[in-house]
Amino acid sequence: ISYDLDAQSRLAEAEGLALAIGIVIAESFTLPVREVRPNLLFGAGQVDNIRIACEQNEAELVVVDGALTPIQQRNLEDKLGRKVIDRTGLILEIFGERAATAEGRLQVELAHLDYQQSRLVRSWTHLERQRGGFGFLGGPGETQIEADRRMIRQRMGRLRKELEQVRKTRGLHRERRERAPWPVVALVGYTNAGKSTLFNRLTGAGVMAEDLLFATLDPTMRAIALPGVEKAILSDTVGFISDLPTQLVAAFRATLEEVTSADVICHVRDISNPSTGAQKAQVLEVLRDLGVVEEGEASSIPILEIWNKWDQLAPADAEELASQIEGADDIVALSALTGAGVDSLLERLGEMLTRNAALRTFEVA
Ligand code: GDP
Repeated sequence: ISYDLDAQSRLAEAEGLALAIGIVIAESFTLPVREVRPNLLFGAGQVDNIRIACEQNEAELVVVDGALTPIQQRNLEDKLGRKVIDRTGLILEIFGERAATAEGRLQVELAHLDYQQSRLVRSWTHLERQRGGFGFLGGPGETQIEADRRMIRQRMGRLRKELEQVRKTRGLHRERRERAPWPVVALVGYTNAGKSTLFNRLTGAGVMAEDLLFATLDPTMRAIALPGVEKAILSDTVGFISDLPTQLVAAFRATLEEVTSADVICHVRDISNPSTGAQKAQVLEVLRDLGVVEEGEASSIPILEIWNKWDQLAPADAEELASQIEGADDIVALSALTGAGVDSLLERLGEMLTRNAALRTFEVA
């Protein structure tokens, strides 16, 4: 299936998404879909290949990195004898796990219901067509579907009201969060940019005893020590995803709500990726929507750009990029994989946070 990424980057992204919710990947591969089969999406031979791969690996789950209709999903499950989920299903799982704020959780549940509702309607109309006409199943079936739809609609209505309420009180919450005893550094960036690798590198070295509490409460938050800062909280956010299905956009933004109360935002970029410029523009657009970035590029929260995967650059590109960032104090080049440059990131963060703290004391005085 072709998207704006080449097949290999796309597959790597999908793997990253699956790993993000703890799926252990036995095997991953691309299949060219030249003609979409309404019943199975894939051709019969391709389905056989998937089945064989499943059996060889004793896989429990098949993730299709594309959109499946409810019928395709059910038929594939029958043929493969395993649970099958599609891209939207996978992303919803991730959002559900990562939604940290009340608004985030409500938005994710709304998106989930919306997804379910569309499946209900579509499988119903499909069933009707399959059986050759309306009303073939008689009253009870229709009543059941109607009842399910009504229930989902009602629940969605209630969630929307709750959302409104949550938004009204959001200002208050934010004020409270700002008084957290430790400064918060939030990592944002595209899936695959290297956020988890960096997160692990920054937190892995000196795990503090109290940190274990954090780790169990929320695996996306860890305490770290920085030069001049005894303790800061490093928070990993849900990664940006290419081709995000439109009905998930609101849920995605809401799961990022927490960055609005960060003291510093680290924007992790895969600088070796040819689309890194377009990716940056999308990240800034979302930060703008969240009210963090204003017109132009002025930001209410300092943003530090991390040019990651520096080790992967061709020497000529590295030289060119290095000259671009000479003297820039809001960009740090590094390799989360090898660790090169991580010390200067820690230095820089320490400086930014102590400067912040000084400003805050000044304001209070
Ligand atoms: P996330 O989705 O942003 O959390 O990205 P990950 O941390 O999972 O990294 C995605 C892939 O990029 C993994 O295969 C990493 O090993 C790789 N990666 C991360 N940082 C670097 C880096 O600095 N250099 C290189 N060459 N690969 C990296």
